Parts: sequence; structure tokens; C-alpha cells
Amino acid sequence: MNIHTKAVHAGDRKKLPDAIPSTTPIYTASSFSYAEMADLDKVFGEEMDGYCYSRYDTPTARALEEQLTALEEGAGALVTSSGMAALQVALQAALTDRRRSVVAASAIYGATTNMLTKMLEPMGVDITFVDICDEAAVAKAIEQAKPGCVLMESISNPLLRVGPMDRIATMAKAVGAALIVDSTFATPLLLQPLQLGAHLVVHSLTKYLAGHGDVLGGVVISDEAHLPIIRSIGKISGPVLGPFECYLTMRGVKTFPLRMERQCENACKVAQWLASHAGVERVYYPGDPRHADAATIGRLLAGKAHGAMVSFDLKEATQENVFRFMDRLKLIVRATTLGDVHTLALYPAMSSHRDLAPKQRQRQGIGDGLIRLSVGIEAPEDIIADLEQAF
Ligand SMILES: *Cc1c(COP(=O)(O)O)cnc(C)c1O
Repeated sequence: MNIHTKAVHAGDRKKLPDAIPSTTPIYTASSFSYAEMADLDKVFGEEMDGYCYSRYDTPTARALEEQLTALEEGAGALVTSSGMAALQVALQAALTDRRRSVVAASAIYGATTNMLTKMLEPMGVDITFVDICDEAAVAKAIEQAKPGCVLMESISNPLLRVGPMDRIATMAKAVGAALIVDSTFATPLLLQPLQLGAHLVVHSLTKYLAGHGDVLGGVVISDEAHLPIIRSIGKISGPVLGPFECYLTMRGVKTFPLRMERQCENACKVAQWLASHAGVERVYYPGDPRHADAATIGRLLAGKAHGAMVSFDLKEATQENVFRFMDRLKLIVRATTLGDVHTLALYPAMSSHRDLAPKQRQRQGIGDGLIRLSVGIEAPEDIIADLEQAF
């Protein structure tokens, strides 16, 4: 079924004793009871489908999980209180019965780097960082580390590089490692990692999927093999998403494919306009035919859009100039997030990559003039007009 159709139907309209609600209600109950103890016993024992305690499962969370599972064509999902909570569940699930070793992309979300180096490494997990777009380097790292898990993002931040996910899935499989893909930037409209051989897909629901800048959440969508451990970790440690957030997210997801299509179209126009502007040194955009990963992009995103993120270097690359440019923005919101309906601008050197030494930042290609845009659903001419007047 088409993603637009699934987004508005999957998960909803579960029958109540007297009627079928057109959309899923917010169930706030923290526990559930049954007319007979025998039934509660069966639900606890997982012999009968049902609910007993809200750390385990709620009707609202289950509806959202079904909706998200449908979008990624997975076997099941766990919705969590944040994207980072989802990553923690995914990493723990992947390493439960595998070697305590992770090969991870070097250019990943800052908090994910910290999770690896400040939480997992001190617990004895071996961490190897590698340039995920360098296929030979990835092959070598996997061969040497024999990891239990390979962790990558579908599109990297802020330089929007695209690693060969399909080939990395084959390499991971060859050593028995689980491949976890944080696909927050690509979303299921562009890529479905499970279909390309990944075992676990993670999203920060906070971004495109909820999409309105009003909810924090995450999800792990799993293949069949990892579903029991994902559900079990959720049940034991309780990183679950509350019913109100589930409701907001589910409402957001219904228009996610529509919003994302518009955002991708707008991003393409903004990227083209920036590329022709005299004040711009360089544009980073996966739809650029001269993109460093053009071959991978052509293979993985064939016939698809190229995402709604655009980064660019100001020609006069100083913090002072970037601050002046960003302070002049009137419509575009200066905030540390992405994927909202409104266009957002972020300065990586000050926010996501602040903790790196300037030299390290330069080595990663993140200069003092780099600005990252998350393009929204506004009329593209209004977004461009705001950028124009800020130069
Ligand atoms: C935002 C983000 C996260 C973390 O998600 P939260 O919902 O903020 O916990 C993880 N990965 C990527 C790529 C993100 O953009």
C-alpha cells in the first residue's frame, strides 16, 4: 500500500464493545483489569492479547507502533520517550547476545557519540569510529573489530553525506553483526532501511514524523528476530512514550508524507537558489549531481526525493558574519532541531559540534561559516526572500 494511505489508516479504528472510534483515543489508564482473573493471568503470560500495565503496553502506544511499523515495513516497534531512548534500546538489543563491540559512523549525532563513548565504552563495549562513506575503510573496520553491531545514520548531519547502507548491511551480516540505522534525516518516505538489510531502524519522532515542534519522542522499528528483545527491554526498563505524546505523534504522522514531499520540493528550490548566490561558498545537498556520494545516492534514492535539509558555507566564513546573517532572519526560526513545519536554521559550530576543538571541526569539514537549514512547508518564495534579505 502507498505510504500516504498507510499514514492515515494504519493503527486506527480498533473496535470497542459498542462502536469503532474513527481515530485512536488517548488511554491514560496506568493499569487494566478483566472480569475474570484467568484472563488477566493469560494477558500477563502473553497467552492472550490485551493490556495489563502501561509500562508494558497501552492501546494508544500500540496504535502508533502499528502506524510506524507499517511505514517502515518492519515486524514491530517500541515507541520511546525520546530518540536517544530509542537508540539506547536498539544498541542494548543488538548487543544482548553478540560481541560487545560497535563499529559506528564517525559523523553521527552528538548525543549518540556521547552514548557510545560515555555510557557504553565505560561498561566494556569496544567502540570503533569509521568514515561510513568510505566503503573500503568500513570493510576493514568490520573485519578487524568483528563487531556485534554496526551503527550508522541514513543521511549525516550537518554535511548530509549518504553511506552505502545496502553494502554495509551485507558486510554486517557476514560477521553476524546487527545493523542499526538512525534514519531520522531520511524518513521512510526516502528510505526503508529494513528493506535494505538493516535489523533495527531508529527515529527521533521529535523531527519529521511528529513534525510540528510540539512533542519529544522516539521509536525503534525492528525485524522479526529482534522484536522480542526490543519489547522485553521496553517492559523491564520503561523508556516508554506517554499516551498524550503518542496521540500528538500519531496525528502528526498522518500528514507526514504530504509535509515531507513539500519540504523536499522546497529544499530543492532553496538549494538551487543558494548555489547561485554570490555570498555562498558551497552548498551541501544530496540532490546535487556533484555530491561526494552521488553514486550511492543514485542507487539508494533512485526515484525518491533528496531530503529537506540543506547546509551551506557563507563566503565570509566567520562566526561574526554567521551571527549577523542569522540575526537578520525574520521568518526562519533559529533553533536546535529539525523537521518542523516551519523552516529552521542552526549553526553547527555553536551547537551540535560545539564540544569539538576548532581543528577537529575543520578536519570534519565543519567550518566557521557553515549554516544548516531544515526547510519547512512555507511557500518557497517566502523562505528564499527571507534568506535573500539576510545576506
Ligand atoms: C534529534 C536526533 C536524535 C535524538 O532525538 P531526541 O528525540 O532529541 O532524543 C538522534 N538522532 C538524530 C539524527 C537526530 O536528529
